[in-house]
Amino acid sequence: MINFNTTYLDLPTDFYVRNNPEKLSHPSLLLFNEALAEHELSLNIGTSSHEELAYFFSGQNLSKSAPCISLAYAGHQFGYFVPQLGDGRAHLLGEVLNAQGMRFDIQLKGSGQTAFSRGGDGKSALGPVLREYIVSEAMHYLGVPTSRALAAVQTGEFVQRETLLPGAILARVAASHLRIGTFEYFANRKDLPSLKLLFEYSVKRHYPELIGKNDIYLVFLLKVLHSHAKMLASWMSLGFIHGVMNTDNMSISGQTLDYGPCAFIDNFAFDRVFSSIDHAGRYAYNNQIFIAKWNFSQLASCFIPFIHSNEKIAIGILQEFLEAHFSCFEEKWMEAMGKKLGFFKVDKNVEQVIHNWLLYLQEENLDFTMSFRDIIDRPKNFKRTPLFQLFESSWHTCLQQQPQSIKQSQDLMKSVNPLFIPRNHQIQRAIDLASKGDFTVVNDLIQVAKKPFNEQVDYLKYSIPPKKEERVISTFCGT
Ligand code: AMP
Ligand code: MG
Repeated sequence: MINFNTTYLDLPTDFYVRNNPEKLSHPSLLLFNEALAEHELSLNIGTSSHEELAYFFSGQNLSKSAPCISLAYAGHQFGYFVPQLGDGRAHLLGEVLNAQGMRFDIQLKGSGQTAFSRGGDGKSALGPVLREYIVSEAMHYLGVPTSRALAAVQTGEFVQRETLLPGAILARVAASHLRIGTFEYFANRKDLPSLKLLFEYSVKRHYPELIGKNDIYLVFLLKVLHSHAKMLASWMSLGFIHGVMNTDNMSISGQTLDYGPCAFIDNFAFDRVFSSIDHAGRYAYNNQIFIAKWNFSQLASCFIPFIHSNEKIAIGILQEFLEAHFSCFEEKWMEAMGKKLGFFKVDKNVEQVIHNWLLYLQEENLDFTMSFRDIIDRPKNFKRTPLFQLFESSWHTCLQQQPQSIKQSQDLMKSVNPLFIPRNHQIQRAIDLASKGDFTVVNDLIQVAKKPFNEQVDYLKYSIPPKKEERVISTFCGT
């Protein structure tokens, strides 16, 4: 059905293990992303039946020439280093090239135990699969670099969590599944030849234009740093909280990867946390940029042996590099937030406007997404507290100082402030109904997510913030 062209198989065998997805007798297709398959991946799905797709995207229909593999990686989980994690419940079906020559991984998640399962069952429940499908697709249409959802398949079996839950598999697509943790895996083993191979592979796959460049290690790090700063800026500007920013969940490509207990903020608070396992708030909203830098520092430290034979000198060079470039995270974040309030450029005054606005949202417990829409169309609706007045007067002053017209600022705001995000309470409702076989809300959420900035009148109910009693306070990993 698909012609795989899997370059990861050319790497030495300690980069991955070959193992096949679990055999299933009755997989059934729940969701299939035809637009992604045909237009972006150029897959030749043709007239395949739902049954064929279900078998294929649960790994039941493997060709001998393209074996499935699970990738090795390590990672810092909540700050603690684990030397071996790896794909414990994922199988790479293979890599594909689209019509434009772009390379993608197609990976199954929840497809059974692997050599890296460490006692886990290798499976996924239906809920987390639907959550990742809905949120990753929404993120794509919101303009966030992300893995995509290609298919969701019900396994027909049950998985044991707190209760017995229906099992499912997600087929997802990513520019690659190389992670910071992949580098940490070989660096920790002091396996320099493999680390070098991994580096060369990553350059070739993601930044081929760097081949032959001077200072290629630092230039590569700079590319990754910029891509992470861009990703973080888009998360922050949408009120998105990833929830598990462990280094094994941070891609080298700069795509958002591994959606777990993620959520979009509704009523705003700087220190908002949703994940039920994040007791200390390590991955809270306002900690995400700090953590991204911390994670990136772990990647940079893997490069010590490449930078200089003297470790002290190498560390000095890397520290200087980080100090010189880390401000890029704040710059990109402020740029993105500035646009949300109509600013084409950001200076210290604009930063203060942004800060006061967020303080006001927090103080009044207001919905993050809706407030950015209302401030364009219904500014009179906001409670005129002293903080609001301070914000409003400096906002107007700064807007008027721009060369662009107010109309241009408003257009800019409308183009970056979504009306529709996949709201936590709607996702929960979608999952609850789907568990009973009703996919109406799942399908609605996927549909509405395709045009998040447009007023889709038939779907307006999905833009409404939760009532107090509907608020989702906590989200679960589901592993
Ligand atoms: P995550 O927090 O989902 O990114 O997973 C962290 C690590 O645990 C990865 O190595 C996963 O492959 C592994 N893992 C998560 N859930 C399971 C599971 N149900 N069975 C086996 N391994 C798992
Ligand atoms: Mg992970």
